[in-house]
Amino acid sequence: MSESSLRIGLVLPDVMGTYGDGGNALVLRQRARMRGIDAEIVELTLDDDVPDSLDVYTLGGAEDAAQRLATRHLSDHPGLQRAAEKGTPVLAICAAIQVLGHWYETSSGERVSGISMFDVTTSPREVRAIGELITAPCLDGLTQPLSGFENHRGATALGAGAKPLGRVRHGVGNGGGDAVEGVVQGSVIGTYMHGPLLARNPEFADYLLARATGSELAPLDLPQVDRLRRERLAVAR
Ligand code: GLN
Repeated sequence: MSESSLRIGLVLPDVMGTYGDGGNALVLRQRARMRGIDAEIVELTLDDDVPDSLDVYTLGGAEDAAQRLATRHLSDHPGLQRAAEKGTPVLAICAAIQVLGHWYETSSGERVSGISMFDVTTSPREVRAIGELITAPCLDGLTQPLSGFENHRGATALGAGAKPLGRVRHGVGNGGGDAVEGVVQGSVIGTYMHGPLLARNPEFADYLLARATGSELAPLDLPQVDRLRRERLAVAR
């Protein structure tokens, strides 16, 4: 952890804030503070450079036009790429998977170059994938099912350098026909799960916090979060 406070980068909430994924940064800050760790959210907008010195970064989903603006900004200001090279955890939701890939095709069929942090490409599905999404994680350190809400047209294919985050139990996921969901490549993790993801999946939130702080975290007892999980996971039964 740099300096005395945990610094959480909320990347481009002005263009990638459509789906409420900024809540992931709030959850990280709150769960850190509940452990007595001083934490702050650093909002990085289209008017800002992207520093490589923060402790953890989150990026949210977006519509096609907005995600194009984000792609250009992250390509012109490559701080996120440098942070990932240093092993800093990065969480990329939905459109952000596509932006971080080699290229994506919009729903109108136009191909846009991404920033190649993920060895993935994305092409439009015939029908939009919308609904509850539940997976079994395949990332070491995660044992609990992951739950979220997917809403995307893009189908993401993983190249050899990228691994899936989970196996689909309910919903569509990456949409490539192989029943996998999300992307893991080094310290960068992508998923199609909105929710926000970290409000629904406290184990995942603490996984990122532990990586960002470099320390083990005491468990938190939050019955309301357990109740939310039970309710959301029940859709698959
Ligand atoms: N525009 C992208 C798609 O439809 C991403 C949407 C999103 O971020 N929810 O695939």
